[in-house]
Amino acid sequence: MTYPTQPTASHFINGAYVEDTAGAPIDVIYPATGAVIARVHAATPAVIEQAITSARAAQGAWAAMSGTERGRILRRAADMIRDRNHDLSVLETYDTGKPLQETLVADASSGADALEYFGGLAGSLTGEQIPLGDGNWAYTIREALGVCVGIGAWNYPTQIACWKGAPALACGNAMIFKPSETTPLSALKVAEILHEAGLPAGLYNVVQGMGEVGAALVTHPLVDKVSLTGSVPTGRKVYAAAAAGMKHVTMELGGKSPLVIFDDADLDDAVGGAILGNFYSSGQVCSNGTRVFVQRGIKEAFLARLAERLGGAVIGDPMDETVNFGPMVSEGQLGIVERYIAKGVEEGARLICGGKRVPGEGYYLEPTVFADVHDDMVIAREEIFGPVMCVLDFDDEAEVLARANETEFGLAAGVFTRDLARAHRMVAGFEAGTCFINSYNDAPVEMPFGGVKQSGVGRENSKAAIEHYSQVKSVFVRMGAVEAPF
Ligand code: NAD
Repeated sequence: MTYPTQPTASHFINGAYVEDTAGAPIDVIYPATGAVIARVHAATPAVIEQAITSARAAQGAWAAMSGTERGRILRRAADMIRDRNHDLSVLETYDTGKPLQETLVADASSGADALEYFGGLAGSLTGEQIPLGDGNWAYTIREALGVCVGIGAWNYPTQIACWKGAPALACGNAMIFKPSETTPLSALKVAEILHEAGLPAGLYNVVQGMGEVGAALVTHPLVDKVSLTGSVPTGRKVYAAAAAGMKHVTMELGGKSPLVIFDDADLDDAVGGAILGNFYSSGQVCSNGTRVFVQRGIKEAFLARLAERLGGAVIGDPMDETVNFGPMVSEGQLGIVERYIAKGVEEGARLICGGKRVPGEGYYLEPTVFADVHDDMVIAREEIFGPVMCVLDFDDEAEVLARANETEFGLAAGVFTRDLARAHRMVAGFEAGTCFINSYNDAPVEMPFGGVKQSGVGRENSKAAIEHYSQVKSVFVRMGAVEAPF
């Protein structure tokens, strides 16, 4: 069977596809069937060098262009992505197994939003003028960092490629992006479209490979910044390697986020938030609210309504637009999640529904809910990264806030209540970078996104991302004579 996914070549460097079959082969597997649909090769040291040299050569002239000119190219790319949304979504579904129903609205379109937003901001990036005493003054110049490396996870390959590329390019940097080895295809299309939109060669390069290719990029002396989306253990390694070279970093890492539902909440909204925050993308979302704290009085009503609504999950062929629940990304990830489910049962949590592999081909796992989960259970402490919701009981606000924060992670947190004062009190107390009131997992490009504690450093999206892709040069200007002691 032929699939419409075979990339022209493994890498995209200096404005063109590049192949080097000397690199280790990486098979791309369609998670819905387990079929090999494409093959790419990991970047060899020569390919990595080519990517860095071309990025370095192109970056200076790009930074010297006006922000408006840079932005125009990014916005053109955004329009092209939207025009090709259907084909890009099909590719994303092949890459990840996520239902087309999702990829049509959440992946390429979210990437286009980032290109449009940062394209619009590019012309307004400025320094400031600072009046000082005696007529003296200072000004600042906002400068690009240079060559940025982006390293992606496998759950949102197109979005991550754009969330890192768009602000980097808007600020006048070059970007070298290494997709996850599990989902290498979509970023190549992002590179292709950016160059078709007029991006000069060398400014957005894509190289494939496993962790060691990422590590080679991070430690390269000509790289100025590293932005990683990945797990906490990888984040620790990448952050340490970047620190050795005193490089800038953004770390978008894992989480075990709390979602707190008070007894005055609109029950259907709360159930909807919990479904979105646990089962979208088969639960493979970093900010998921996987510790669902439900106030004791509404616990059984919540579980009953949840079980009822989970009956609406349509599991099947992700290319069928009526399907809203797809497979896990890989056999390996499915195995990890199955082991957590077994652990939950062993620890005495009550399995409300799901818990089993769906028979047949592909890496499908049923949406799974555990109730009566306690804070010290492994399933309540570790990131599972699959469709497994843990429901925990609580009695009062102070208690639930303390328990919500009792984790090394701090990516996101949500609260459902009709009491607005309580909602804002909870948000003020949450140790999390991204919070939601009566909603869950919204990620508009205008809003900063990122974590605290072990979940990360820096922010993506919004004006906040500009701070992480540019630096400020200060200039003191003396208007009078220089007074020296001798
Ligand atoms: P991972 O940490 O295994 O891999 C992430 C990327 O890092 C991959 O491209 C991998 O090849 C690369 N890598 C691995 N070792 C490296 C090294 N030593 N040096 C440089 N690069 C290296 O993560 P994953 O399994 O691909 O993704 C799942 C994880 O990502 C989850 O923990 C999830 O929470 C997290 N995630 C976070 C966000 C966020 O924005 N905070 C978004 C999506 C996923």
